[in-house]
Amino acid sequence: MHAFVHQGMASKVIFGSGVADQAPAAAAELGCRRVMVLATRSQEAGAERLMQQLGPAGAAVFARAAMHTPVEVTEAAMAIVASANVDGLIALGGGSAIGLSKAIALRTDLPQVVIPTTYAGSEMTPILGQTQAGAKTTQRSPKVLPETVIYDVDLTFSLPSSVSVTSGFNAMAHAAEALYSRQGNRLLSAIAEECIRVMARALPRIVVTPDDPEPRADALEAAWLGGRCLAEGGSALHHRLCHILGGAFDLPHAETHTVLLPHVLAFNAAAAPGAIRRLGLALGVEHPPQKLFDLAQSLGAPASLGAIGMPRDGVDGAIDTLLTDPVWNPRPLEAKPLKAMLRRAFDGARPR
Ligand code: NAD
Repeated sequence: MHAFVHQGMASKVIFGSGVADQAPAAAAELGCRRVMVLATRSQEAGAERLMQQLGPAGAAVFARAAMHTPVEVTEAAMAIVASANVDGLIALGGGSAIGLSKAIALRTDLPQVVIPTTYAGSEMTPILGQTQAGAKTTQRSPKVLPETVIYDVDLTFSLPSSVSVTSGFNAMAHAAEALYSRQGNRLLSAIAEECIRVMARALPRIVVTPDDPEPRADALEAAWLGGRCLAEGGSALHHRLCHILGGAFDLPHAETHTVLLPHVLAFNAAAAPGAIRRLGLALGVEHPPQKLFDLAQSLGAPASLGAIGMPRDGVDGAIDTLLTDPVWNPRPLEAKPLKAMLRRAFDGARPR
């Protein structure tokens, strides 16, 4: 028997085409009368459009969200929350905009409507990572779980193919680690396997025909499943290492996941045969880590941590940091094999 605890997540999910227009009504349904719209700079125009749609309920736009949720950005947004009497949040964008929304909700418990436009999956989790002075810390709180999530496929057509690929790998990483989670159960494994099956088939189609709504819808729905996997399964070596590298070297989040995932899965393979079997079923292959590596390369994703900005002399220190506060992982964590694995990922070698 395998014992587990399952915590259902109570968010409302709206999925479709053109459904972002429902955001003002969704905020009103949550009782919001003074809404702040959050985005990164590159999605400011979309945030302004939402502000107009909100009419008198629009209180402010804050379009300075940044990767890894820097605390100083959250503090700047908090000043506007106070001065504009904000009583609700709408976040438009990827994990950066949603992370900012969650960081404000942690401090205020304000209700959130979020409109994800990448496949990162943060919208489905009660998890918040924040960065201060080069260190990323993660916490769980029911306060940060968005009340309403609106998946509008139309907003994902503008996601460049390269970002779609790495973001899709981010979603598959959530699912892959759920397959060997200590909280694993049949429901979670079924969700995880389906996430990987659907995403791995959608990404090559998106690269070839980025305007085809069918693979875009598939990828966005798979992203929802991936977010659920992260929320319910938690994380192990892969996610912890991505957080350490992201915080220490300001590496791009989705690319870091893409490069590391095949290596961590190869590292864990012998200790997690059930997870590897299900990954193989989802991908239709016998060696899933190698297949994921090949898929990423065939779709033009970066192959090495070196190529995305990690310094070579950062390898040993990252593993030392990991081992000062080790996370649970199916394979016990030991410095020598971990450093060898991270060096291969740094160099862009095939996973072993
Ligand atoms: P991101 O939100 O930074 O987006 C990347 C870039 O793409 C941004 O400039 C953004 O404006 C732009 N963009 C987003 N959607 C677009 C679209 N549809 N069209 C055109 N441009 C678009 O990146 P991300 O990978 O989505 O999120 C990464 C962040 O999310 C990290 O800080 C990570 O830690 C966090 N995250 C948190 C969780 C969690 O559960 N707490 C889960 C996943 C990711």
